[in-house]
Amino acid sequence: MNHIKINNQKAERIGKIYIVGTGPGNLDYLTPSAKRAIERSSYVVGYTTYLELISELIKDKRVISTGMTEEIERCRKAIELAKEGATVSIISGGDPGIYAMAGLIFELLKLDFKGYGAIPHIEVIPGIAALNACASRLGAPLMHDFASISLSDRLTPWEVIAKRLEAAASADFVIVLYNPKSKGRVDHISLAASIIRKYRPATTPVGIVKQAMRDGETIIITDLENMLTYDIDMQTTIIVGNSQTYIWLNWMITPRGYIVR
Ligand code: SAH
Repeated sequence: MNHIKINNQKAERIGKIYIVGTGPGNLDYLTPSAKRAIERSSYVVGYTTYLELISELIKDKRVISTGMTEEIERCRKAIELAKEGATVSIISGGDPGIYAMAGLIFELLKLDFKGYGAIPHIEVIPGIAALNACASRLGAPLMHDFASISLSDRLTPWEVIAKRLEAAASADFVIVLYNPKSKGRVDHISLAASIIRKYRPATTPVGIVKQAMRDGETIIITDLENMLTYDIDMQTTIIVGNSQTYIWLNWMITPRGYIVR
C-alpha cells in the first residue's frame, strides 16, 4: 500500500522578495531590471540614505526605512511581508551581493527553514558596484587581478583585515578599499596604507573617488605617499594600483599586457 503523506499544515501565503542593487546613486546607473522590480513591489525596504537616492521611484510605495546598523531587522521585515504574500524590494546601494543585503536574506531564510514549509520567491537584481563606478571615473585601474577589502571591523576582526591586506599587497593585486573611514574608525586607512607600503613604492598610483555618480562627486589621482592628505570618508572608495599601474594625463591605468612597454 502506498503511503500518501498529507501536509495538513495551514497553507502559507508566499510572496516575492527582489533583492535589488540600485547602483552608485544616480538613476542613470540603475538598471531597467531594478526599476521594473521596484515598480512590481508594493513594499520597499532599505537604508534611509539609499532610499533618498531613489525617492523618485518609490513615491507611491509603502516604504520601510531603517538606519545603517539595523540590517537584520530590515531583512526580517522584508521576509515577514513576503511570507504574508506581498512583493517586496529590499534595496542596497551598488550591488546587493557586495557588502550588502543579499547574503543576509539567504542566511536568515536558512536559519528559519525547518526542512518544510514554503520560502518566498527570491530574485537578486545586480547593480553597478562602487568599484565599477569608481574605476570608470579613474580610467582603467582594474584591468588586471584585483582584491576588494573592506576596512570596516564591525563584522570582521581587524587581524583578519590586516592579514588580507598583507596577502593582497604581497601578491601584487590592485587593491580596492571599501569602507575606508568612519567616525569610529579613523586609523584603519593609515594602517592599511602602511601595510601596502611595505610591498609597494611610495609612487604607486592611488585613486580616491568620493560620491561617485552623485552630487558632490570628487575624483583624485595621487600616490601611496600622499593619499592620506586627502579627505577620505565613508562615501569614498580607494583603488591602489599594482606594480604596473601608471598615470597618464588624468587617468589611472593598469596594463593587461597587450602592449609591451
Ligand atoms: N553594495 C555596495 C557597497 C556597500 S558598502 C556596492 O556594491 O558598492 C559601503 C561602501 O561602498 C562605502 O563605504 C564606500 O566605500 C563604497 N561606496 C558606495 N557608494 C559609493 C559611491 N557612490 N562612491 C564611492 N564609494 C561608494
